[in-house]
Amino acid sequence: MRMSELAPASLRASKRSVAAQRPAQVASSLLPQLGFTGKTAEMRPGLRSILGVDTLEPSQQTYFQGQEDSVRSIARISAMSAAFAVTLSAAAAMPAFNELRLIETSAALAKLFQASLPDEVNALGEPNQSPVQMLVQRRVLDELARLVHAHTGRCGGFIDVTDESVSTLARARAALKRKAPASFPDLAARREDVVRALDQIESANIEAFVRAYSGNFSTRHASSAEGEQAPKWLAAQWKKMADDAGRTDIRVELVDPPRGYRQNSVRITIPGRDVMLPAVVLGGHLDSINHKDGSLAPGVDDDGSGISALTEIYRVMLAGGFRPKAEVRIFGYAAEELGLFGSRAIAERYSRENAKVRAVFQLDMVAYPGQSRTLTFIDDHVNTELTTWTEQLYGLYVGGPVRHDSCGYACSDHASWDRYGFPAVFPFEASDSEMNPRLHSTKDLWDEYLDAEFAARFAKLGYAFAAVLADE
Ligand SMILES: [Zn+2]
Ligand SMILES: [Zn+2]
Repeated sequence: MRMSELAPASLRASKRSVAAQRPAQVASSLLPQLGFTGKTAEMRPGLRSILGVDTLEPSQQTYFQGQEDSVRSIARISAMSAAFAVTLSAAAAMPAFNELRLIETSAALAKLFQASLPDEVNALGEPNQSPVQMLVQRRVLDELARLVHAHTGRCGGFIDVTDESVSTLARARAALKRKAPASFPDLAARREDVVRALDQIESANIEAFVRAYSGNFSTRHASSAEGEQAPKWLAAQWKKMADDAGRTDIRVELVDPPRGYRQNSVRITIPGRDVMLPAVVLGGHLDSINHKDGSLAPGVDDDGSGISALTEIYRVMLAGGFRPKAEVRIFGYAAEELGLFGSRAIAERYSRENAKVRAVFQLDMVAYPGQSRTLTFIDDHVNTELTTWTEQLYGLYVGGPVRHDSCGYACSDHASWDRYGFPAVFPFEASDSEMNPRLHSTKDLWDEYLDAEFAARFAKLGYAFAAVLADE
């Protein structure tokens, strides 16, 4: 195990000095550094096993009882990568222990973060091997996202795993190892009912909905007041659509905000006729961000376009009286731009509750066709069999050129599902060479560079995906 060479000298020294000691000794010597004094007291068994010490000062005990999540993330780090001692020393050396977040990113981005913000971020474990876990201060999450954007032109970049429970992730990883190769329905011939439904997808609706959605909010940033309203607006639209279609069986619900934010995710549930079948999930992120030129974040292509394409899929489902064999769920995820918060919390919950999911389809940016008008399948943090199958599905029902590319890191919500072992696929609008240059700026508006016909291809693919998988 090697700590980053780029860590501040004082931190490096304190890590070196404590790394050689046994964790329990380190904990006892470092806890006072966290600012706690007082009479020694017995602590709860759970904390005892996490911290590796038998006694805590009463004030320490109170503190840790109020800090379950921080303690849990310390336990994660100690269990998964860096030594417990190193973690505690890092925490002790930072002024606001409470404000620390644990993120996971690629080795390349970890290097970038460390070089740009040496005092606010800390690589844990082996920094040259992806994924790298880092302790970072919450206040720099926005800045990290900006760095990713400036250097890659993409969004996402890291996943905030502070609140992830160790046991859930361990169970998901074990299940992933045991899992049989995913298999998907035969695609020899087109289904007439699907072809008829795809004819109903209207590109004009996609443009109209994204104009309305982005026009309603100057930003959908997860920490902004308007960003809190965006999911409520979206849920009201989706609910009205179900009501107008007389579909009392369809539920549209706000999902609790991810910890640390007040922005909800939104979920549509179209119940399946056979409750034993695994669900099919479609989704995109409902938030937006500006990293370039102020605070206005219209987020039309990123990711109003994905939300709008999902809405058109849903509209056609309602119009056709779609009653699938397996349950279909459509998500608008909160706080993607700040570290995939909404989708990670949802995927973890599915994993914890042993929910069965057949496949997950992600739409994030679908309206910018670039020069080549080519749909790009992202090849990392996805399920390979599902990606191959979805590419065949595209050829069968939609048609048009496709290519493959990779993000090199967790660039959208598909990575959250993939993390917990759910098969995910991510068709994207453009490859690296022709990214939409307006994303994350005030210029991400509906303009002559965006193309509703191109976006409609993604909506058609999404509809076919849901219909074929959920109604085999
Ligand atoms: Zn983005
Ligand atoms: Zn995005």
